[in-house]
Amino acid sequence: MYTSTETLYNIFQKGAKISTDTRQVSEGCIFFALKGDKFDGNQYAAEALQKGAAYAVVDDPAVVASDRFLLVEDVLAALQDLARHHRKTFTFPVIALTGSNGKTTTKELIAKVLSMKYNTYATKGNLNNHIGVPLTILSVDPAKHEMVVVEMGANHQAEIALLSTIAQPTHGLITNIGKAHLEGFGGVEGIKKGKGELFDFLSKKKGTVFANTTHDTIMEMVSKRRAFGEIVFYCSESSPVNPILLQESPFVIFENHGKKVSTHLPGSYNFDNICAALAVGKHFEVADEDANEAVSTYQPDNNRSQIVKKGSNTVIMDAYNANPSSMAAAVANFAKLDAPKKMLILGDMFELGDAAEEEHLALGKLIAAENFDIVILSGKLMQHALPALPKAYYFPDKFSLHNWVMDNPQENTYILIKGSRGMALETVLGMIPG
Ligand code: ATP
Ligand code: MG
Repeated sequence: MYTSTETLYNIFQKGAKISTDTRQVSEGCIFFALKGDKFDGNQYAAEALQKGAAYAVVDDPAVVASDRFLLVEDVLAALQDLARHHRKTFTFPVIALTGSNGKTTTKELIAKVLSMKYNTYATKGNLNNHIGVPLTILSVDPAKHEMVVVEMGANHQAEIALLSTIAQPTHGLITNIGKAHLEGFGGVEGIKKGKGELFDFLSKKKGTVFANTTHDTIMEMVSKRRAFGEIVFYCSESSPVNPILLQESPFVIFENHGKKVSTHLPGSYNFDNICAALAVGKHFEVADEDANEAVSTYQPDNNRSQIVKKGSNTVIMDAYNANPSSMAAAVANFAKLDAPKKMLILGDMFELGDAAEEEHLALGKLIAAENFDIVILSGKLMQHALPALPKAYYFPDKFSLHNWVMDNPQENTYILIKGSRGMALETVLGMIPG
């Protein structure tokens, strides 16, 4: 006999926390035995119960050993259904955002701005997928919260559509359409379609979208879907949110309603993220001065555009992730920086499929057109950038990269470190003397 969503919801409503990881089981929680590529959560259900979980939701009848094992047809679907059930219990705004780059940064900025006026719950960290979105929704407290901000990530079609059925957003924003997860989406048109599923949902539900008028692709995507409840345009002369970028390197400084605002965020691409947050804030009537304060105090974390001092050197740690569009944005921003000496340490961009060789070469050409003092490339794919950069240092593996960085201490140098998550280039920081 399968356990129904209603039964699970009754247990959840009595205050049981949700856990999907036996290392984070808390007393009285419901453990969801999810499957991964390399593990089957069913095998850990008994351990979760031993560690204090009240119930374990499983989909393998063979592991059921007592009435504390709740059998369902599919554990992931049960988790998602539970979140759908919970979503029905609150009616305050749910703002969803997706896009190729800048989702987490924009989500954090929106949450900070909204928190100036509302009790806001936002996605924790990067919990933006088919498991993270249900967990985010299940963390919303209908009695306490007033706003929800949900990050939605995707690397293939139909994913955002599914996440939308769980989060049921009332408002939405696509940060941008760039070259990220090219392989899974099947090219840029595929990315537009896949990310556009958020707009499809909002168009069907008469929801509100926020649209940056300086982004042609976003404007095109908005104009194709005519049934939105409202379109909030920003960054145009007629829009109430149209800040002026005064400086982008090393940090963004902008003017908003006559006030000069300094931030801890580098690059014009972060100005885009800031504009989105200001637009959402304005729409929900957060006072301009409060929104400005929220943006100016936001500090990025997790190696996303973080600035770190190493002796006389300044490191821009952007090792959190990389794809052709965020690489291009980061390199262009770094090129504009007024610094005595500049060094790039760049690693492979993954998930590009057939476009990998071409995109790495294109990056090489982009770098060659700028004036950097030292260019260091690392990873197997980066060798494709070398024909454009004959003077670059190339290290196929991290070990040789680390050695070079330790053996060649720099001074008064600005260093940009960026690569895909799998490259984990943050380890290079520890090798820089100082
Ligand atoms: P993920 O797909 O891993 O969830 P994300 O979309 O949430 O990524 P962030 O974590 O906010 O993106 O930022 C990651 C990196 O992307 C930043 O460190 C920066 O290099 C780059 N980036 C941030 N915002 C933008 C933007 N608006 N346009 C282009 N690149 C950006
Ligand atoms: Mg993210």
